Formats: sequence, C-alpha cells, structure tokens
Amino acid sequence: MPLDIVMLGPPGAGKGTQAARLAKHYGIPAISTGDMLREAVQAGTDLGSRVKAVMDRGDLVGDDLMIEIVRERLARADTANGFVLDGFPRTRPQAGALDAMVNEGGLSIIDIAVPAEELVRRLSSRRICRDCAAIADPASVERGATSCATCGGMLVQRSDDREQVVRERLAVYERNTKPLLDYYRDRPSFRTIDGLQPPDAVFGAIAEAIDGMAAPGGGDKVRTPLVPEGPRPGAAG
Ligand code: AMP
Repeated sequence: MPLDIVMLGPPGAGKGTQAARLAKHYGIPAISTGDMLREAVQAGTDLGSRVKAVMDRGDLVGDDLMIEIVRERLARADTANGFVLDGFPRTRPQAGALDAMVNEGGLSIIDIAVPAEELVRRLSSRRICRDCAAIADPASVERGATSCATCGGMLVQRSDDREQVVRERLAVYERNTKPLLDYYRDRPSFRTIDGLQPPDAVFGAIAEAIDGMAAPGGGDKVRTPLVPEGPRPGAAG
C-alpha cells in the first residue's frame, strides 16, 4: 500500500516543515501546492500570471484549477509509494476530488493544531529560501541568518506573509479549510497533533501516529485495501 499523507492545519502550523521531514523519512515526495504555484509565478508561466493576484491577497485559487494541478502531479511515477500533500485539500470540493483520485481509506490525515495568535507571530517572522523554497529554521533567522542552510540561497519573506495578508489567510482558513476537520474527523486514520511543541517533538508525534496507523488494527489502511496493489490508475512516467 502506498503511504498517502495529507497535512491539514492553518497557515504557519508547520505543515511545510513537517512535510519535508516526513518525505525524507519515508522516501516519498512532499507535494506543496503553494510551492508549485509560487514556482509558476516566479517562472512567469501562464499559470503563474493567472494565480498571482489571488495569492497576493491571501485568497484561494479556484477549485477546478487546483484539482487539475494535483491530479496531474499525483499521476507522476514518483508517487507510486505514496506522497505527503501540503496545502491541499483546502476546500470541501478539493477533499472530495482527492478521495476520488486515491484510495480514500488509505489516506493518513494529520492535523497540526496551533492557536491563532501564535500563527500570526510565526508567519510574520518566517523566511524562505528564494532559490529552493526551503523554510528557514526560525531560531537561525532570529540569530540573523540571511542565507539558506540547505543551498546558500538568499532568505526572503513570502509576499503573503505580511501581517495584513496573514490575517486574511487565517480568515480564509477558518471559513474554507477548517470545516474539513469535520469531513475527516471520523476516519480511523485521522490524527490531531499539538503543533506548539518543538519541531522535533511534532515530527516524532506525527511519525508515531502514522506508524501506528500502519500497524495491524491501527487504522483502516492495512486491514481492507479497497484497491489491489499496483500502479495508481492513470499513473504515468
Ligand atoms: P501555502 O504555501 O500553502 O500557504 O499557499 C500559498 C497560497 O497559494 C495560498 O494562500 C493560496 O492562494 C494558494 N493555494 C495553495 N494551495 C491551494 C489550494 N489547495 N487551493 C487554493 N489555493 C491554494
């Protein structure tokens, strides 16, 4: 069975940081829809010009477009053993579409919970690498780091991490994305993790939750596979 992980939680909860760590730990790709869109904006593609204004005001890109982007991405061969989705789904239609793309009983859904005041604080001091999009360690940013620990690229603030846009993004989260917790809550493979812990502890708690779900009787994924093992429908190289 592929290990298909969905990261839920408000902006600034640590989804991106933890998705990257989980991807490395389990040997599966981290798929960040925000990173994909920012790359398109930076590269000046047609997609980039369609989404830039929406992103700059902290709003959501349309469901049909997002669903198509994710459908194409999940059809790539590197997802054969699973993926960590960061930033998708963000709306009820996106969640429904994802269930139709994968074995829905096989999704491991991780919600990272962090109170709103802490999110504003984290987002307004967050820096990312201009070149590789890695999220900088907040402690080193506080000590004055200006270059990326991974690739040496310049650390910059995301244009939507300015306080006014942050507030709009948090409102959009409350309105559109938080209701997804009710959509997923009753599934045996749904877990909420305390995102106020130090990053290493958050990672440990998530990995423990995921490994527990994969254990016999831990979740619903190994007991009754809904689809036979093998390439995903429509998977291509
Ligand atoms: P993120 O990096 O996940 O915070 O995403 C940055 C921005 O990209 C969001 O504020 C949205 O404008 C857009 N975006 C990313 N993922 C989605 C999605 N699944 N649905 C709609 N808009 C998205």
